[in-house]
Amino acid sequence: MSLDLIKSFVEAANNRDCEFPLNNLPFGVCFEKSKQKCFSATAIGDQVLNLTYAEELDLIPDLGFKHVLLNTFMSKGSSFRKEIRKILQDLLAENSKKISEVQRCLLPLNNCYNSKAFEISEYTDFYSCKNHALNASKIIRGENAELSKNWYTLPVAYNGRASSIAISDGDIRRPTGQIYDQTNGTLKFEPTKKLDFELEMGTVIGGSLPIGETLDFEGAENLIFGYVLLNDWSARDIQAWEYQPLGPFLSKSFATSISPWVVSPEALEPFKRTPPERDFQLLPHFEDDKAFVFDIDLKVTLIEDGGTKTDIVETNAKELYYSPVQQVIHHASAGCGISTGDLMGSGTISGMEKGSFGCMLELSWGGREKIALSSGEKRDFLQDNDTVVLNGTASAEKFKIGFSSCSGRIIN
Ligand code: CA
Repeated sequence: MSLDLIKSFVEAANNRDCEFPLNNLPFGVCFEKSKQKCFSATAIGDQVLNLTYAEELDLIPDLGFKHVLLNTFMSKGSSFRKEIRKILQDLLAENSKKISEVQRCLLPLNNCYNSKAFEISEYTDFYSCKNHALNASKIIRGENAELSKNWYTLPVAYNGRASSIAISDGDIRRPTGQIYDQTNGTLKFEPTKKLDFELEMGTVIGGSLPIGETLDFEGAENLIFGYVLLNDWSARDIQAWEYQPLGPFLSKSFATSISPWVVSPEALEPFKRTPPERDFQLLPHFEDDKAFVFDIDLKVTLIEDGGTKTDIVETNAKELYYSPVQQVIHHASAGCGISTGDLMGSGTISGMEKGSFGCMLELSWGGREKIALSSGEKRDFLQDNDTVVLNGTASAEKFKIGFSSCSGRIIN
């Protein structure tokens, strides 16, 4: 695997700080403002390449980009994705032989909005970061709390709600639900006072596994189309009342945000790292000797109503205990089948130190220690008009792989 920048004739893509070099080539869907039209796209430097038009011009093979949403292309599997990456890297290369034809399909990123890239069929949320799980246990059950034994043997998860997943930049309405006041024993149906974000990575599935079949490591890895940033918005007071004994429901189902571009496993290949040390050996079907996580720097910025920004979280995706591939293996292991467009959240990603905790619950330690913002304001949980922005970047010496941002603003 190469740690060299692949140079493009699109000058901006060769800049060290550009999040879309030719090494990245994320897949997405854009809406062209002037033509009021959506198309399948990849991002290159400060431009987007219209894949729907490139397919129409026979610049690239027919892979279903005429359908705009990426599901048809995604369903073709990893070999087609790898093939189109090579073709695009040739077409967009510094010494491309087809510059003038390719230029017909390029337009400035600024002339477009991102639109939903694919139809999401199902959404599963894992709980795969030990630092976060341990912190959450301590906040709820006291400083001496430990994780239950099952956490160390499988990636714990629940089936979430696909219909309320939106791409970045949407408004997030503060949900109403049953909230139990422990101090005076009263129950009310009212807007959450403990609205939170959760910094996660999302794994996007491309390809199908029939019901009844299971996956080995290689099979699971091949079913992964790519990765996005994911914010699993949470209402902690609604969650605290409803989650026993079956887990979260309405406290999570009201909204989930994802970043608009899907970054391929090929772009992230140079950033594979060994997962954290195991407390207990995993069972053989997880093939733990092959497990990897990604070295992706993650950041969360809170923007107040007045525009003041505070970076409240800095952590890294390599803090995940279970590999995304192991999440997919586990998901398939009882035979439920897996389909193109399935989305799997990693679980909140937290580091060991306070500034690296991936949600307000941990940052404010259950609301007991408010965090200071650069304006002088303090927060335990999110207020109306707060905007939460997730960013992710994998950095090599000569290039970066960016995810663009995943943001949402709280409204009442
Ligand atoms: Ca979550």
